[in-house]
Amino acid sequence: MELHKLTITEALKGLREGVFTSVELTQALINVMEASQADIHAYVTIDAAGALAQAAECDQRRAAGEDLPLLGVPIAIKDNMNVIGQPCTASSRILEGYVAPYDATVIAKLRAAGAIFLGRTNMDEFALGSTTQTSGFGPTENPVARGCIPGGSSGGSAAAVGGDLAICALGSDTGGSIRQPASHCGIVGVKPTYGRVSRYGIVACASSLDQVGPMTKTVEDAAILMNVISGRDPMDATSLDEAVPDYTTAWKDADPEQPLKGMTFGIPTEYYGEGLDPEVRAFTEAAKERVIALGGTLKEVSLPHSEYGIPTYYICMTAEISANLARFDGVRYGQRVPCDDVIEQYKRTRAEGFGAEVKRRVLLGTFVLSSGYYDAYYNRAQKVRTLIRRDFDQAFAECDALLSPVTPEPAWPLGVYQDDPIRNYLSDVLTVGVNLAGCCAIAIPAGTTQAGKPVGIQLIAPNFGEMTLFKAAKALELPRA
Ligand code: GLN
Repeated sequence: MELHKLTITEALKGLREGVFTSVELTQALINVMEASQADIHAYVTIDAAGALAQAAECDQRRAAGEDLPLLGVPIAIKDNMNVIGQPCTASSRILEGYVAPYDATVIAKLRAAGAIFLGRTNMDEFALGSTTQTSGFGPTENPVARGCIPGGSSGGSAAAVGGDLAICALGSDTGGSIRQPASHCGIVGVKPTYGRVSRYGIVACASSLDQVGPMTKTVEDAAILMNVISGRDPMDATSLDEAVPDYTTAWKDADPEQPLKGMTFGIPTEYYGEGLDPEVRAFTEAAKERVIALGGTLKEVSLPHSEYGIPTYYICMTAEISANLARFDGVRYGQRVPCDDVIEQYKRTRAEGFGAEVKRRVLLGTFVLSSGYYDAYYNRAQKVRTLIRRDFDQAFAECDALLSPVTPEPAWPLGVYQDDPIRNYLSDVLTVGVNLAGCCAIAIPAGTTQAGKPVGIQLIAPNFGEMTLFKAAKALELPRA
């Protein structure tokens, strides 16, 4: 048995039946993780000693008769979530050397459930990007479509799970950063409803858009992680007090022959427009046929303001990131370029510590918030955001979930479009709407192109419609290769 290739469900089974120990499982993962760093570079930090110590403790607890939802299961964490005692850099040079002084709420919940923290996955710097190439520590390579980007910004998490360098991982999604890399690496990724999962202890990207979510090999694994990380947190005022169902029961009552019976899937016309790669289109068409075969119904719907999604997102998100990154001034966190003059110190620290994409977004965000431009850009973007939200509400009045591609095209070669920010921004066209609206979505694998590149499909459900997502995704999930 190749332990590093297991799913959460398989790992738990083996641990519970005593087929292997958590130390053996963790060691097997560390071996492949370390061996793959030179070419895939999924991780920015690997905590081998820490993970093995946690694993030994989990084995002792299990031997003493304890069992927990994730006891002894190792997980990879995106480098923007605080895990006490481990470095936390958001893949930025400005945070090099910073060690997390506390656990983010999602981490505390995983720890209480018995999970082991293997290491920190690479990402676009401060989660700004779609390729993981803006990382201050070098890019990650797609482990399936070799030579290509893994997607981003949670590209390290996606590459780790897709390349069997982790059992499962957490990512964060501000405009597609869980779903897009999941699609490019052939895995499952969930962007929960805004307010479903606590953001406390996550390095903020754009606070009104960010959500943490699971990145896994199967739909069931994603549901297992959602059970653990969801729920109200007094430390995050935007987390909602909404009961957490057992997500693994979402598909339990489904008719085995017609699991989608009674469900209507909206097909948003605007998400199937020009510029969709023919193979990506073909996979979505195949998914539509499977919906029918599994007892579901399709319905054409419209999200009329979709064309404003990208400009609206890039105004709202840059405004928020410019404010959130103001705290990185060389005084409180991470790196400092010492100077006698404090203003000069801020400037030099930020000039040296931030990469080009971060600077571009801070400039843009500062501009759209500045007096004289605020009404023309930021205020107007907020209004359009409301229209986009209403588009989704209206579409959901006619269907249970939306079905669409995740990204317009499969993973592209590393290095291509790197100097073309607009080209990168446009690749988020099918994911940002969900974040602007606040609803939930899942990306699941749909197939592999002729050139061997994974392609996913996206299901979108209303606020707190995660049970609908899991039920539909479980039915549409393809058997694992
Ligand atoms: N690719 C998008 C961006 O560059 C999304 C990022 C994210 O979700 N963190 O902003």
